[in-house]
Parts: sequence; C-alpha cells; structure tokens
Amino acid sequence: MRRIAYFGASIFLISGACVNVDPIERAPRRTVTYRRPYRSPLPAETRRPAASRLTRPQRSKPAYMPTWMPTYGRISPRWKTIVIHHSATRSGGARAFDRFHRKKGWDELGYHFVIGNGTDTPDGFIEVGPRWNKQKHGAHCKTPNNYYNDHGVGICLVGDFTKWRPSPRQLASLERVLRFLSIYCRIPAHRITTHGAVTGKTQCPGGHFPLAAVRRALRSPITAASLP
Ligand SMILES: [Zn+2]
Repeated sequence: MRRIAYFGASIFLISGACVNVDPIERAPRRTVTYRRPYRSPLPAETRRPAASRLTRPQRSKPAYMPTWMPTYGRISPRWKTIVIHHSATRSGGARAFDRFHRKKGWDELGYHFVIGNGTDTPDGFIEVGPRWNKQKHGAHCKTPNNYYNDHGVGICLVGDFTKWRPSPRQLASLERVLRFLSIYCRIPAHRITTHGAVTGKTQCPGGHFPLAAVRRALRSPITAASLP
C-alpha cells in the first residue's frame, strides 16, 4: 500500500513538472542568416523592367490624334457628357450662330464646337467656339438644374436633320471631335446624347441623325476616316 502511494505521488510530480515547462524553451531554435542585398550583375541600362511594368496597358493616346486643347490653360474636369445638336437651318457657321445667340440675350455662341456643311464654312470644317477655349459652361441645353449646360460639351452640326442626313464629312469630323473628347475628358460613348433626348421638348438633332451609328463608331478602333 505504501508502495502504491509513492508510485502515485511520483506520477503526480512528473505530470506537474511537464505542465510547468516553459513553451518558449520547447520551440525549435531558429538559425538567423544574414542576407547580402541583391545586386544585378548587369549594368543599369540593360536591366529589363519588371514583368508587371511590361504588361501594364498603356492609355490609348495615338500620336496622330488631333487635339483641340483650350487656348487658355488645361481641360477642365467639369465635362461629364456631350450633347449633339443640329442648327435646323440650311446654312450657317459659328459666326452666324454667335450673332443669333447674342440677339437672344446670351453673352456669346452657346455651343463649344460647330461643324460646317459647306455653306458658311467647308463641309466637315470644325470651328472651336470661345466657350471651349475658356472652358466655360455651355448655353445649348436648358434643364431645371442646368446640368447639361454646366457639364455638357455642346456640338452643333449645321443642317436640318429632320429633313436630311448629315454629310459623310460632317460625321467623320464629328467622330474626330468625339474621340478627342472621350479620351481627354474621359467621356464614354454611352454618355453622348442629343438635345431632344435630354429635354424631350425638341426634335434636335432630328430623326435622320444616326446617334447609334456614331456611338458604335466610337467603340470601334480608329480607322483611316477618323484620322485628321
Ligand atoms: Zn439643339
């Protein structure tokens, strides 16, 4: 009986000793080695850039892209949409529309760009209005909160597209301006709209204006027709 008591006491002491072992002491020892900083054996100019830098997509800004940069400084971040108009006249140009808009009491031409039809200016000729050069709000698409005047670039094609289609040169010029605006102002094709679609109070730019085809053309790669 005394032996059994000794045996039990010794087991109790051994198990108690095991519990009290410090866990840090039981962890395997680590060996620390000193690493020398990596130095490429190649001279600096022959080193290849990292793979991520090689495969990173570049922003598509072709060198031959025509630019209509504003005369006074940089392009404003205000532009979020583009509103297309027709003049609803047989002839015209920026000068004639400027006179017309001033007679209405406006400070100057309401549009930012005007694309000629061969009457006042050559067919497809792009005129840049003073509002674009000043990066100033438009006066072409009145809405209750004035969003489309404050944030919309106004482009007017000379002609009445309730009666006929814009000329191929007008459409080619429009595509060039839209490509420029979509890249430099980061406006996607679905943000291009028309005066009539915004207000619902006018037919501008007329049923013969091919908005869907213009948007489709912008989504496709640049063709020879899009070049300046
Ligand atoms: Zn309009």
